[in-house]
Amino acid sequence: MANVKNKLWENNGNATFSTKDGIHASSMNFEKGQRTRHQQKASGFKEKIQSPRPSLDDSLEADVRAFLIDEGLLHIYDDLTKVNPVTPTTVLKCLQARYRAQVFYTNAGCTLVALNPFKPIPHLYTQDLMVEYHLAPQLQEFKPHIFVVAEAAYRNVQSQVEPANQSLVVSGESGAGKTWTSRCLMKYYATVAASSSSPNCQDTVERIEKRVLDSNPIMEAFGNACTLRNNNSSRFGKYIQLQLNRSQILVGASIQTYLLEKTRVAYQAASERNFHIFYQMMKGATEKQRREWMMPRDQRFSWLPNAEKTLEEDCFNETVDAMTNLGITKKKQGQIFRILSGLLHLGNLNFCPPTDESQPCDLQEESKDFLQKTADLLQIPAEHLLACLRLRTLRAGKHTVLFKPCSSAECSVRRDCLAKVIYAQVFDWLVAFINNSICADTSSWCNFIGVLDVYGFECFLLNNLEQLCINYANEKLQQHFVAHYLKAQQEEYVSEGLTWSFIKYQDNQSCLDLIEGTPTGVFSLLNEECRLNRAADAKQFKTRLEKELSNNSCMSWDKFSARPHFTVSHYAGKVSYQIEGMMEKNKDPVPPELIYMLQTSQDPLLHSLFADYSTDEEGLRGHSKVVTVVSKFKNSLESLMKILHSTTPHYTRCIKPNADCRPLTFKKEEVIVQLEACGIVETINISAAGFPIRIPYRCFMQRYGLMTNSRICSQSQTGNGLEMDESTLGPAVADVLNVVLQNQSFFDAFHVGVPGGPED
Ligand code: ATP
Ligand code: MG
Repeated sequence: MANVKNKLWENNGNATFSTKDGIHASSMNFEKGQRTRHQQKASGFKEKIQSPRPSLDDSLEADVRAFLIDEGLLHIYDDLTKVNPVTPTTVLKCLQARYRAQVFYTNAGCTLVALNPFKPIPHLYTQDLMVEYHLAPQLQEFKPHIFVVAEAAYRNVQSQVEPANQSLVVSGESGAGKTWTSRCLMKYYATVAASSSSPNCQDTVERIEKRVLDSNPIMEAFGNACTLRNNNSSRFGKYIQLQLNRSQILVGASIQTYLLEKTRVAYQAASERNFHIFYQMMKGATEKQRREWMMPRDQRFSWLPNAEKTLEEDCFNETVDAMTNLGITKKKQGQIFRILSGLLHLGNLNFCPPTDESQPCDLQEESKDFLQKTADLLQIPAEHLLACLRLRTLRAGKHTVLFKPCSSAECSVRRDCLAKVIYAQVFDWLVAFINNSICADTSSWCNFIGVLDVYGFECFLLNNLEQLCINYANEKLQQHFVAHYLKAQQEEYVSEGLTWSFIKYQDNQSCLDLIEGTPTGVFSLLNEECRLNRAADAKQFKTRLEKELSNNSCMSWDKFSARPHFTVSHYAGKVSYQIEGMMEKNKDPVPPELIYMLQTSQDPLLHSLFADYSTDEEGLRGHSKVVTVVSKFKNSLESLMKILHSTTPHYTRCIKPNADCRPLTFKKEEVIVQLEACGIVETINISAAGFPIRIPYRCFMQRYGLMTNSRICSQSQTGNGLEMDESTLGPAVADVLNVVLQNQSFFDAFHVGVPGGPED
């Protein structure tokens, strides 16, 4: 076996160097065998060397691979670029072997792949470990870990690598571990970038690091819910910017959220739950609070399904403590919880058709008590609330107002709409409050590290506007990834004059054009259809899509399907979207009379939430533009992309190894779909073919210049350091590398006796 193991290294033999601002060093071959002599000393450095992958028909490699697979040793590959050949299957095998060996992080070139263990692994995330990573002189010494990514980003800020601001983009499907990873990153920065002032000086104000961390339980209580796929599923996207001052101390943060799934407040799919906060209140409120919020223990609320399920997220005290730490007064908290209780009571209002058709719907008998309680909790007169729920206001001319009774189904829609708009406003208020509490003055911070936790690519049996938006966001991020790593990297090689053959990559611009293009992209056509304000007709919209987009290669239809739909070929696979309900969701109409009613609430918080809310009616009258859901989402994504483009990104792809969230269980068929969805093979191919190490000329020469031949040294060395003009630096670097390799001291150079080398 030892023989086979030795062979493992023999195929290596190509070292490549590049710099951040360009590739300056050469790529050199050295004989097989030369490297083996040095491999012991070089073991720490071998991670930095990119090995050419031997061909498939190389029997030696086949031996080695067979051995690795037999022995379950594929986990030795810390970087998937070393797997050979790179196919979804080999990558899968490697990840599976690593998972079996309880190694959860693997590099895929410039991306970190994080496998979810679905079980706490405390020793992987200790405070000591954070400090160790933070103080380590060389990060490359470490195995792949989320802290390595975190620390690399932190160091980039320090060394003012361009751009100095950093973004950590965490992606993956629901339950893959994005939020968990984001929390981990925030804890890392709160630890390593904490201010050094003693806790005694902080009697009155909670330390900023704590406050930043405290934003998590609040956001999760109000924005996360138990779904079929994840007990703690984020129902919104989040980009948090951690603000650092000149000394790299965390001085504040700001949070931007995207597309909260507010429908959940009034509709929960079978076996799913409402937002955590409602269950937290129900389970954690004191008797006094219960009386105040009219929530007796045995009360059943139809919008509170599966309350018997006990989750660790049902922790009311933690949410309340975090709110208090962030400065939300007890009084304000009381107002928030009263409103939320009002929503639960609202959910118990059900209507039945009237006996006389000209009359409005009746409230079902058992709902009557809830009407009064809802009205009390929201501090609105009960009769006003009832009228708004069952009568539509029609305006004829300037002064005539007519009331039209709604059907019982329409009454329910209005009830749900009322709950959704209130919940969304409360959520936004909280985000704004948190931002006020944790955001530093612009003058006190100069750089930031952003952490992006967005919903991953989604493909269900039935997909609607939400999935279209989510998948559109993923297309945008994929484009950013492609542009940043693949395109920019290859273009840089060319501009540096390197011999480089372009690797083809899947550019998803055509899919983005299909969705966001004007005037005939799906979003534009959808907006236009909504503007025409026809009775929402799925067939009409479908005909329009077919007319405008029938020749688009990213768009298709199943002619035999009875349900109006369209299919988009996303980079991660095809998804069929049903058209029914799409227009209504896009308009997301809120009857103006509901808003006017809320503006009359005696509850100061509820009143303030709607004081400046512009209604659709005002929009129609030209006071303000009615903004559709897709327009709003597109705009917010565009701002996000602008920020991402202005930062140095770091990608982490979280993978969910099994759908049942079972600890340490790896289901190949489930993982492979995710690997394909995030284009990991393509990423590996590009990263493997590229230059993994980027050292600027000047740093390289300062560190390794002494090894060059005397010609270059005498020509350029002055005083203590090397002084060279830019034109000499490139060739000199190449010269150093050649000298090193000719002398077979290549590995030694990095390990012994080089001033400024890694071991100094
Ligand atoms: P969603 O898109 O639904 O919000 P997500 O990708 O944010 O999903 P998380 O909520 O972060 O998923 O993770 C799901 C669960 O997996 C967590 O609640 C936690 O129990 C577990 N988990 C994730 N990552 C880890 C980890 N590194 N170690 C231990 N457990 C983890
Ligand atoms: Mg999440």
